[in-house]
Amino acid sequence: MATYEVIIIGGGPAGLAAGLYTSRAGLKSLLLERGILGGQIVNATLVENYPGFPEGISGYELGSLMHQQAVRYGLEVVAAEVIGLIPGQPYGISTTEGNFEAAAIVIAAGSEYRKLGVVGEEKLSGHGVSYCATCDGFLFRDREVAVVGGGDTAITDALELSQHAKKIYVIHRRDQLRAGQALQQRAFAQPELEFIWSTVVEEIMGEKMLKGLRLRNVKTGQHSILEVAGVFVAIGLMPNSQRFSNILELDDAGYIVTDETMATSVPGIFTAGDIRSNSVRQIAAAVGDGATAAISAFKYLQAIR
Ligand code: NAP
Repeated sequence: MATYEVIIIGGGPAGLAAGLYTSRAGLKSLLLERGILGGQIVNATLVENYPGFPEGISGYELGSLMHQQAVRYGLEVVAAEVIGLIPGQPYGISTTEGNFEAAAIVIAAGSEYRKLGVVGEEKLSGHGVSYCATCDGFLFRDREVAVVGGGDTAITDALELSQHAKKIYVIHRRDQLRAGQALQQRAFAQPELEFIWSTVVEEIMGEKMLKGLRLRNVKTGQHSILEVAGVFVAIGLMPNSQRFSNILELDDAGYIVTDETMATSVPGIFTAGDIRSNSVRQIAAAVGDGATAAISAFKYLQAIR
């Protein structure tokens, strides 16, 4: 079995920062990533709030630069999906590419889009159903689309879509938005946006391409059909923490509980980025978490030797 001093789970900004720090500290380090290195930021056309890039930088390029920098200092990267952790010292990690072990682990597995869980959603994903307005908004030039959700993401998406689509319906399950006041003011002033309050999506209709949404007003119980070419589901994120729940403490929403050193409830297992409790879900913050987790892992390894 391949043995490392530190194994990092997840190749987004938090994981890549952790890998940079552990590798530069001379620790034999492996990063496991099941998808694309860079994590969720690869979908961002332009990142304007990551310090050091005054003109902004594409998320894909930023992720690629972070990867290059980490491997330059010796970080090994393996494409594999983690199945679970095996308690002990060293810890075992079972993956789709076999088992690995390490004395310290940094979990930076991030989060993924929450799904509506209604009929048609899975079938029409990529055929009118999207979770990323930045990625897919341009496909709906001069069409009518819907956004589901009432938080910052939904309203940011709706405003972004107003640059492409001719009409955007914002479907929210309550009669008040959760989004911040500044975003709300901009949204209410945008003529292309129309709000459908107290309403949920019950079905996403269409065979090969999305044709419309079956809606239900939660106050009156009345059903209606909304004909749109696309729907952007923006109802929050879910942490990728289920596979660690057998050994780590999670908060009520499923995020990994940590202290300010990024230590979890289990000695030698650290966490970083969007998957941890109380993360502000920003790239700069994830990178900071990654650095903190790596330094904590280094101190832990010194202490147990
Ligand atoms: P969020 O704040 O959790 O909002 C999720 C929205 O989806 C809520 O309005 C919620 O309704 C609704 N919702 C949840 N589950 C639903 C379901 N099953 N069916 C229908 N509606 C459902 O998530 P978010 O908007 O993705 O934001 C996540 C974090 O990122 C927040 O901290 C946010 O501030 C931050 N963020 C910031 C910006 C920015 O520009 N500053 C941009 C994007 C995100 P209820 O309101 O009824 O709960």
